[in-house]
Amino acid sequence: RLRQRLAGSNALGRGLLNLLSTDRLDEDTWEAIEDLLLTADVGVAPTQELVEGLRTRLRVEGGKASPKAALREELIKLVDPDMDRRLQVSGADGAPGVVLMVGVNGTGKTTTTGKLARILVSEDHKVVLGAADTFRAAAAEQLTTWGERVGVEVVRGPEGTDPASVAFDAVKEGLDKGVDTVIVDTAGRLQNKAGLMDELGKVKRVIEKQTPVTEVLLVLDATTGQNGLIQARVFSEAVAVTGIVLTKLDGSAKGGIVVAVQRELGVPVKLVGLGEGPDDLTPFTPEAFVDALLG
Ligand code: GDP
Repeated sequence: RLRQRLAGSNALGRGLLNLLSTDRLDEDTWEAIEDLLLTADVGVAPTQELVEGLRTRLRVEGGKASPKAALREELIKLVDPDMDRRLQVSGADGAPGVVLMVGVNGTGKTTTTGKLARILVSEDHKVVLGAADTFRAAAAEQLTTWGERVGVEVVRGPEGTDPASVAFDAVKEGLDKGVDTVIVDTAGRLQNKAGLMDELGKVKRVIEKQTPVTEVLLVLDATTGQNGLIQARVFSEAVAVTGIVLTKLDGSAKGGIVVAVQRELGVPVKLVGLGEGPDDLTPFTPEAFVDALLG
């Protein structure tokens, strides 16, 4: 599925393969390879690592080396296959797991919340959703629509309610109903950084009066490039992020952001969004991602 969605929309892999298949890999070619990686938002340090790694391999292995196989292996290494990408959607001792969704408005947070609920329900999890983005009536509406579509209860409050109180109520409902997972959608108004940090901290503290938050997923829009990295920094100062969801990877030539954001936060990309439809969210694996890039 990843391959289907990224093939054609991602110039990085094809560009790299093209350059690597030239007869002589001279300095100009290596520079062009670097440019491609930087344009795709891989970041400076990882780009240099990749190029160094490839050059060394191709030199050592000489004519025996397959540039494509070498590139594949070096790219996978860059995406860090050893990170633990499992979602913590269950709590200890039968308590529900609590997943907090954070990120800037417009990144796809609410959509991702709905899609994640759908995945969990399809795996026979019982789920409750909390609409703690109480600043926009549309956000709670949108989540309620997802709830109806997926068949899960949505806990919401009147517009302007304290987000932490909606989060508290959602988790209480989850505990009362004995569900497996409560997913809480939050607001993301980045224009007021101090306010946002206070709010997210409070939401988490209030939830944890009842049961621990097991996963904090930061939703980032892959098409925003370096801006996404700045957002990642701000949010990780506000709350301990445990996983990244990269949305809109379907429309982005900036797949390299996967590498950059993992480096920035030291936290794995766990899910990727590949479209607007209900099934367009998929677990992230470095091997599948790199294979998709290379077509
Ligand atoms: P929120 O403000 O962060 O909650 O963002 P929304 O969930 O309302 O999403 C904003 C827009 O992005 C909507 O039009 C979504 O359909 C769209 N969107 C979300 N995820 C993806 C994705 O993975 N790919 C594409 N192409 N669009 C997406």
